[in-house]
Amino acid sequence: MMDMIRIKNLHKYFGDLEVLRGIDLTVEESEVVCLIGSSGSGKSTLLRCINFLEKKNEGEIYIDGKLVLEKEINQVRQKVGMVFQRFNLFPHMTVIQNVMEGPITVKKMDKKEAQILAMDLLEKVNLVDKAEEYPAMLSGGQQQRVAIARSLAMEPKVILFDEPTSALDPELVGEVLSVMNDLAKEGRTMIIVTHEMGFAKEVADRVIFINEGQIAEEGPPEEIFDHPKDERLQNFLGQIL
Ligand code: ADP
Ligand code: MG
Repeated sequence: MMDMIRIKNLHKYFGDLEVLRGIDLTVEESEVVCLIGSSGSGKSTLLRCINFLEKKNEGEIYIDGKLVLEKEINQVRQKVGMVFQRFNLFPHMTVIQNVMEGPITVKKMDKKEAQILAMDLLEKVNLVDKAEEYPAMLSGGQQQRVAIARSLAMEPKVILFDEPTSALDPELVGEVLSVMNDLAKEGRTMIIVTHEMGFAKEVADRVIFINEGQIAEEGPPEEIFDHPKDERLQNFLGQIL
């Protein structure tokens, strides 16, 4: 198996606050890793450092076998897709235009080709009938599925999800998790920050518990959820389950 992401000794500070305190993490091709941990433990910051939305202070990040240098962050952003809690769609563009935008502007794909690609992806997330609507007309679950299609349009090597369902009404969570489950089955490499423990248990190859900017425990979901060793993990699970 090939390493899709390799992180060595990652440190991140905001001012005096050390938010990531030496993270070492390797994610293999086709692996699905779920990150869990209390609010403020550094999960979002870790994802944002992987995608170079935040600048790390120390450490090395390899993507697809290559050490990423600061001047290459635009290439990284093409390889690493990101789906946020708030869907961040372009409000003045229709659904299909949102999906076509990246391939056209960044990849210089011609419009016809981008249109065909976008329709394929909308079919995958079950939204062909909404192609010509504007985001404001869609439910949160539908908007998040558009955001996933938009991310897929860039053909990323890895997709990072930061609490993709936590802004949704409970009845809309399932449709988004179901799309993510399909992506996992297709063999996509994914890192997912989530509080949906049932989903993590079902879909994750590995679960990582982050505590105060460090990996406190990691393992297959059965181990993490049914036989947690670290006391802080036991407490965390006790609070949320
Ligand atoms: P999580 O996603 O696990 O809830 P975050 O990565 O968002 O945690 O935040 C980790 C810590 O870093 C928190 O203490 C948070 O307040 C702080 N933090 C996050 N982003 C910033 C920022 N842009 N400036 C200053 N502090 C930040
Ligand atoms: Mg967060």
